[in-house]
This record gives sequence, structure tokens and C-alpha cells, in this order.
Amino acid sequence: MSGRPKAVVVGSGPSGGMVARVLALSAEYDVIVLEKGRNFFSGLGGPTDQVTNTLSSDEIGYITRTGAIMPDPLAEPRTFRTDPSAGDHSFVGNVQNLPTTVGGGAVHYDAKARRFREVDFMTNSLMGGTPDKPAIQGTTYADWPVQYRHLESFYAVSEEIIGIQGPARRSGQKVVNPNPHESYRSTPFPMPPGTDQINSLLLADSGNRLGYTAAAVPTAVNSRPYRGRPACNTCGQCLSYGCPINAKGSGAWPLHDALATGRVTLVTEANVVGIEHRKGTNGRYRATGVTYLDGDGNSHTQAADLVVLANSPIEATRLTLLSGIAKAPNQASLSTLTPTVTEPSGLLGRNLMFHLQIIGIAVMNQDIHSFRGRASTQCLDSFAGAGPSAKQFNPDVPRGGILELGGNYDPVNEAIAPAALVYGADQKQWMELGPLTKRIASLTMQGEDMPQLSNYVDLDPGVVDIFGQPAPRVTYKNHDYELATAAYYIPKMVEILQNIGGPGSPWPTVRPVAAAIINTNVPAVAPGSLDGGAAPITSATPFSDVPASAHIMGTHRMALDPEHGPTDPFGRYWAFDNLYYSGGGLFATAPGYNVTLTMWALSYWVGAAIAGGVGGKGSYQASAIDADHAALLKVLKRLDPDTMAARTA
Ligand SMILES: Cc1cc2nc3c(=O)[nH]c(=O)nc-3n(C[C@H](O)[C@H](O)[C@H](O)COP(=O)(O)OP(=O)(O)OC[C@H]3O[C@@H](n4cnc5c(N)ncnc54)[C@H](O)[C@@H]3O)c2cc1C
Ligand code: SF4
Repeated sequence: MSGRPKAVVVGSGPSGGMVARVLALSAEYDVIVLEKGRNFFSGLGGPTDQVTNTLSSDEIGYITRTGAIMPDPLAEPRTFRTDPSAGDHSFVGNVQNLPTTVGGGAVHYDAKARRFREVDFMTNSLMGGTPDKPAIQGTTYADWPVQYRHLESFYAVSEEIIGIQGPARRSGQKVVNPNPHESYRSTPFPMPPGTDQINSLLLADSGNRLGYTAAAVPTAVNSRPYRGRPACNTCGQCLSYGCPINAKGSGAWPLHDALATGRVTLVTEANVVGIEHRKGTNGRYRATGVTYLDGDGNSHTQAADLVVLANSPIEATRLTLLSGIAKAPNQASLSTLTPTVTEPSGLLGRNLMFHLQIIGIAVMNQDIHSFRGRASTQCLDSFAGAGPSAKQFNPDVPRGGILELGGNYDPVNEAIAPAALVYGADQKQWMELGPLTKRIASLTMQGEDMPQLSNYVDLDPGVVDIFGQPAPRVTYKNHDYELATAAYYIPKMVEILQNIGGPGSPWPTVRPVAAAIINTNVPAVAPGSLDGGAAPITSATPFSDVPASAHIMGTHRMALDPEHGPTDPFGRYWAFDNLYYSGGGLFATAPGYNVTLTMWALSYWVGAAIAGGVGGKGSYQASAIDADHAALLKVLKRLDPDTMAARTA
């Protein structure tokens, strides 16, 4: 027994791994990480070059048998409806499921690692809104209680811990960044950009010739050996597959650092189903431990002095509802909040956000090697809205999102896609032609999503999982703002696709044969619901209203006071002394950038606040966050002294 207090971290994804790392390095806690999924790594916590895994680019296993890494939508369903008028639910199955495994969803992601910009944390006030009168009608649009200047060093240290490649580099005393759309940086990327892929370059060139500015996309993939892990070999199966050689940055790596301290225990197949809590002598509540089910369904209790939920916005909401901490919205009156003594904001589970992904493709006249590379090596940020600094802001420019240029299509997907239409000799011909693996250029806009009280997570009244626990239910519909923004940018996306190659480009013989927007959200852009027809299908499909962006935000909005969000600016549930949330749930808005790097930065921020004894107030002044920020920087310098981030902070 060390005598140190025990911290339980629920979930070992990017958010949980980073919180565990900070708490373990601080030496203030013994940490127990409870992870529902299995561990595909061996040797975590030992010498890095000896960590191995059993991940593979097994397309058949991953795509057709769901893969052991994904929750089975039949055994662990989620339910969906666009609004309460649709009944209890209109869809049962895969609703924004992320892998459930050590390392979390980031094991199988394709690792675009973007910072949000300065303007993204303060857009509501830049557009003339106030905390009680959002700038965009029908939303709960709000400024974040923490700003870019607070998070900048936490972004920087996360980039070094995870290992991010990107184009910003040091020149003398300055950091030079070829991407004009990004905010200032105190440090360069720890690694330069890796090998480009041709379908990304074609799109970047097209965008540049139309007057936009494309750049290499920051990515959590090693472009050279980094911290004991090898460089990427550009295998072509990054998107949706774990990296067999450990070149990809996921939640497993901060967890690996945490385990190396000897102060962390990782328990896998531990499905947390309850948070034990009681009222403390100071009138606030205390989490005293958690209940979890092991792989055989046996129940265990783990006592704790501190509990951090890092199990994603949807599952954390489900857990607080199952534990009787929060109360579900009254579906007959969604504008009425439902506060309780343990959740005084009454907002927990609300303001659920996903990005409105718009996907465009062009079929090219020749092989452009789409089945090569890291999935996307270039980005174009011109459609994310005016910025990056407050003085460059223009409220009349619609806030869309970044364009990810390029994408991978693997041979098994190529065979599955046309299976309903062509088979036998025709399918063989299709495979030889390889429209997906050889000839597709694609781009994806991660459109900003509006926070709304009517988009929320609660428990389905009739559907349970294999353990008998009520399934989480998602009630979600797009707001007119993001639909109008999509309609504004879609023609510009098509223009970029149509302008690929040709005379004046470095690839004059390449040209598009056809270009179109084909994405799961097209029906959502058009009026009407197709859920009824899709109900028997257990995954989010094209022509369904079920969003499939895998970027999950909100439900646990951080705020300066309990009137405006369920957690404080350091992730603490207001009514509790020792119950925290960390991850995308904290986001007040959903800027159109990939989300995970901001989750890592915020998780370091939350962990540093706990380790440094910062926070704990009943409400905060915006200006007081600056003083707290200084205290958190001291924690960063103490825990990660050998980083560029610590030296420049
Ligand atoms: C195909 C794909 C591509 C993506 N590409 C990108 C990208 O390029 N860039 C980007 O930024 N993001 C990307 N994402 C999103 C990214 O994966 C998520 O943002 C990220 O994984 C969220 O991290 P998290 O730690 O908050 O949650 P998660 O990764 O979901 O981790 C939560 C963990 O908690 C565990 N858990 C859940 N409930 C319980 C419970 N009750 N008890 C115990 N454990 C529990 C889960 O098993 C899981 O391991 C992508 C996702 C997918 C699926
Ligand atoms: S592209 Fe690189 S990082 Fe991605 S899975 Fe392949 S080797 Fe790993």
C-alpha cells in the first residue's frame, strides 16, 4: 500500500490515457484505469520498442465481422430518433459507436490532429452574443470558459507526448507556419510532414489554383522514429485499422507513459455501470467508488478518492443517469431544464454535437493511387469561417469546417460497395477497373454543428444491452445554420473536385470524369426522414438521418457557473468535490476541426487542475482563469520538463 489516494479513471481512450498520465506523473495518486474493452497491446508500461500488438489490417474481420475492437451493435445497441415526435426511437444499432479497447477510438482513427483557432473559443461574443442571448437563434451558442491562450501550451505538450507531424517549423527564434488559417504557436511540430499521397496533392493543387490555401495536415503519425516508436511505412490502411507497427499516436501512448510510473493499474473488460456517491460534511457530494461488471458479468466495487469519467460524451451521460446523478430531459418540454441536487445545471446530456460531414468525390480518368498513404495528407482550412485571430473575424462568413483532402479505399470495400448491383464476371471487371481503390479523389468537410437543448442523450425506455443495462438514446437533428452553411460550401467543394488536374496543373493528363457530393448527411440536408426504412439495418448507412461523423461533443459543457453547464472550467461536476469528466463532452461549441487533439489538451488541463489543486469554486470570473492558467503551467513544467512546451511556457 502506497498510502496515496486512489484515482479511478473510466475509459482508456485519448482522454482517459492523458488524464491517467498526468495524475500518475504527479505522484499525487495511485491510478486505476477501468476499460470496458480488451487490450490488443503487450508490454505497455515497459520499454517502448518492445511494445507489440495484435492489430492488423484485416479488412474482412474489421468490416464484415465488425472486428473485436468495435462494440457489437446487436449486443450493445444505441438508439436514435430525430426528436420525441418520432416515438421512443426510430433506429436501433450503431449510433456513433467508437472502438471499445485500450487506446479507445484513436486506435482505429486516421489521426488528423488539429488545434482549434483563437476565434473558435469566443465566436459567440464575436458575433454579438452573450451567455444568456446566443448569437445564433435556436441554439445555445456560447464562448468557452477557457480560451486559446490558456490551452496553447497544453496543445503543444500534447503534440509532443503523442507525436504529431506537421508543417510548422522553427526558423531562428520564430515558429514559421505555412498554414495561414492556424493560430499562433509557441512550438514547432515535433516531426516534419511525412510522405504525401497523390490524391491529396491533386486536390490541394486544385484548391490553390482556385485561390484557397492548402497545407500539409498535422497528423498523429510518426514521420520518423519518435520516442521509441518507428516511422509510418504508408501502408494505406490507416483509416479504420489499428497500426500494426505502432507508428500511430493513440490513447495507448499516454497510458503507456502512465503505466511506466508503476503507479497505475489497468483493468480491462471492466464495464463501469455505477458511480457510488454520498453527501459530504461540507454539503457537497463525494464519489466514493464505482461498480463495474467484468467480462463474465460479475459485479465488482472499486473504492476511490477521485473519479474521472473519460468514457466519451454519450457513455458518460448514460453512466451519470444510471447512477442517479443527473435527470433526463422532460421530453414534453425540452426548453425546461431538469436540475437535481447532484447536477444543479439541469443541462447534463444536452447540447450534444456531431460534425456535419459533407463528403465529395470525383472519379478520375486514370489511376491516382487512392489506396496509398495515410488516408489524407493535405487539408484546406479556407471554409472553417473567418479567423484565425479575433481581429480577422467576420460574422458574415459562414462557419463551415476544414476540408480533409484525400482518403483511402481498400479492396474489400471495393468489392462490397457494388455487390448489390454487380456480381460474377461483372464484379471481377469492376475490381480490375478499381474505381474506388485507384480512381477516386475525395474531400470531406467537417462542418461546425450548433449546440441545441433539443439534441441530447438519455436512456432508451425499452432497449437494453447484453448486460441488461438501458441503452443510451440519442435525440438529434441538424440546425438550420449548419444546413445553410453546407448548402453554401457544397458548390465550392464541387468546384474544387471539377478543377483537379488538367492544363496549368502539375498533372495535366489527369482529369475528373464525374464529381458529386455523396454523403450520409444528404438526406438530412433535404427535408424529411428516412429512418423508418433504415430501422432494421444495424449500422448508420447512407440515406439515414443517423449521423456518422465519429466526432462526439457536448453533453458536459464546461462553464463559468452552474447556470450555463454541468461542469466547471476544469471538468468538475459542480455538486461534487471529486467527480470529474474529461473529453469532448466539455466542448461548448463544435468548431469544424478534428476533435481529438483538443480532447488531449483539455485532458492534460483537467489532470493538471486536479494534481495542482486548482479549481473547486462555486463559480468563476472569466478573468480568474488567467491566474489559474499560471498555476496549471507550473504543473506542466514540473511533469514534462524535457519538452519544448515546458521550455517556452
Ligand atoms: C474511423 C474514425 C476516424 C476518426 N478520425 C479522426 C481523426 O482523424 N482525427 C480526430 O481528431 N478524431 C478522429 N476520430 C475520432 C476519435 O476517435 C475520437 O475523438 C476519440 O477517440 C475520442 O476520445 P475519448 O477518449 O474521449 O473517447 P473514446 O476514444 O471513445 O474512449 C473511451 C473509452 O472508454 C471506454 N468505455 C466506455 N464506456 C465505458 C464504461 N462504462 N466503463 C469502462 N470503459 C468504458 C471505451 O471502451 C473506450 O475505450 C475518428 C474516429 C473514427 C471511428
Ligand atoms: S499508414 Fe502508417 S500509421 Fe497508418 S496504419 Fe499504416 S503504417 Fe501505421
